[in-house]
Amino acid sequence: MGQGQPVDVGRVAAALGGRSVVLTGMMGAGKTSVGKRLAAKLALPFVDADAEIEVGAQLTISEIFERFGEAYFRDGERKVIARLLNGGPLVLATGGGAFMNPVTRDNIAARGVSIWLKPDFDILLARVRKKSNRPLLKTADPEQTLRRLLEERSPIYALADFTIESLDGSHDSVVDAILRRLAAMPCNDDRPSPRARRRVEVPLGARAYSILIGPGLIDQAGAEIAKIAPRVNCAVVTDARVAPLYLERLTESLHQAGLRSTSIICPPGEATKSYAEFARVSDALIEARIERRDVVIALGGGVIGDLAGFCAATLRRGVRFVQIPTTLLAQVDSSVGGKTGINSRHGKNLIGAFHQPSLVLADTTALDTLSERDFRAGYAEVVKYGLICDRRFFEFLESNWRETFAGGPTRAEAIAISCAAKARIVVADETEQGERALLNLGHTFGHAFESLTHYDSPRLVHGEGVAIGMASAFRFSRDLGLCSGQDTTRVEAHLKAVGLPTRMGDIPGFEASADDILAAMRQDKKVERGRLTFILVRGIGDSFVARDLDEASVSTFLARELAA
Ligand code: NAD
Repeated sequence: MGQGQPVDVGRVAAALGGRSVVLTGMMGAGKTSVGKRLAAKLALPFVDADAEIEVGAQLTISEIFERFGEAYFRDGERKVIARLLNGGPLVLATGGGAFMNPVTRDNIAARGVSIWLKPDFDILLARVRKKSNRPLLKTADPEQTLRRLLEERSPIYALADFTIESLDGSHDSVVDAILRRLAAMPCNDDRPSPRARRRVEVPLGARAYSILIGPGLIDQAGAEIAKIAPRVNCAVVTDARVAPLYLERLTESLHQAGLRSTSIICPPGEATKSYAEFARVSDALIEARIERRDVVIALGGGVIGDLAGFCAATLRRGVRFVQIPTTLLAQVDSSVGGKTGINSRHGKNLIGAFHQPSLVLADTTALDTLSERDFRAGYAEVVKYGLICDRRFFEFLESNWRETFAGGPTRAEAIAISCAAKARIVVADETEQGERALLNLGHTFGHAFESLTHYDSPRLVHGEGVAIGMASAFRFSRDLGLCSGQDTTRVEAHLKAVGLPTRMGDIPGFEASADDILAAMRQDKKVERGRLTFILVRGIGDSFVARDLDEASVSTFLARELAA
């Protein structure tokens, strides 16, 4: 449809198929004005959720905040939005914080199409300055507060089905852009819900890429890769456990998209991140004539992603690579962010390079064949995002971990939120000069445990080491007087509830002294000029980098842990 031609409203209605249109975005984004105009065009009722709440409570939003607090307001907001969506279809404008609630997002996904209205920051600021009734902006520096809120919320708004950016803020042009996006949706009855596939962007300038999350992506990999690299040669690196499950489907999909491919199969397990496999895979890539513009595809867990990524980083000084992660850990963590590498006999990941993928395809149904133990181990990294920076996400997991383990939309949601958190941190600090170190919560401990068990998977896998490490970081922070015992107990309880270990004593046959553990920690990459670096916490969702920790306090803590 040409830009100047009017939009066929009948086609939009058919594409919506009885679903509501839900507008989300910051205060001042124009949700009410745009919503009213859009509803008039679509002949649907318009409701502003905030206005509905005010009428129901007989109080303004500011008064509800002042009298009962934000948590009370959010709970009411969730219920009101659920009721309105049940009574749809309608055009619904939601408050700026509403989309942050995972239950509300699920409700919207089930009954509506979500749209993030994203005007230029200066337009937002000018609009909110005009109104003095925004409770969250009653601060000394409203501009700074608005910037911070926008930065915090953007990765979650980005989970909406569509984003409509506008530079000039004209409501009519925004309405027109929305109608065009809606009209372009498929409208046959068996269409996949737009929410069935989620997209998270990693905006790293020249190295920017997308993460697609959803069911069946392995079968669509060829088409997706051909979009960014048409007619290239591909080399699929995978392991002997994943190959019989997914290699044929992937190869078929590549060939259908006109991409030639060869495959290189490695033994499964951490031992594959070795000099020997690095040399073997690199030689095989050269023999397959993989050149600069060709694509190395990592099909497998974090081990394959790290190894294949490192081969891609060094082959001909860097070739493109695509991650198709097949473990939960790889989907939420290792496939995003560009860290690649192999292990040395001195420690994990000591040889490596930063090399961003060109695309990440996380097929959520591939996780169905994963062993329960490997799924659980990956779940430790999901919990990590809640613990380092998002208390609400941790609470969501406490209530929804069974559904996350079971699969379906809750699992996809948890993966998308995790990827959005990782993407945000990577974009802020690509090469780990500062904030990115927070992703290492539990890892200084965890890597030491892995090293002392000689990377023996039957006894301990990476995610289990991280789970014990995170529980240890909370106990250590509690003992240092930084974090409450209540939060520490809550973290331990959640990890235990899903069946993850929380103490060194949970590792079969673990025998090491405090000195052994300290020596293993000193070999970790996170050591700077011999100083140990830990990620400590002030509570759930509030972590920080602690450099220069007194070794004696670490040693005393470890001795106490070993005696427990
Ligand atoms: P893994 O790659 O060894 O996979 C675990 C097991 O699951 C393997 O036996 C594998 O063959 C099997 N498997 C994979 N997908 C499967 C599927 N869909 N069905 C059935 N079996 C399947 O381990 P992992 O836990 O994915 O990754 C751990 C590695 O990731 C570690 O080496 C760790 O250092 C690394 N890591 C890297 C980063 C990073 O930023 N690069 C971040 C975190 C972890």
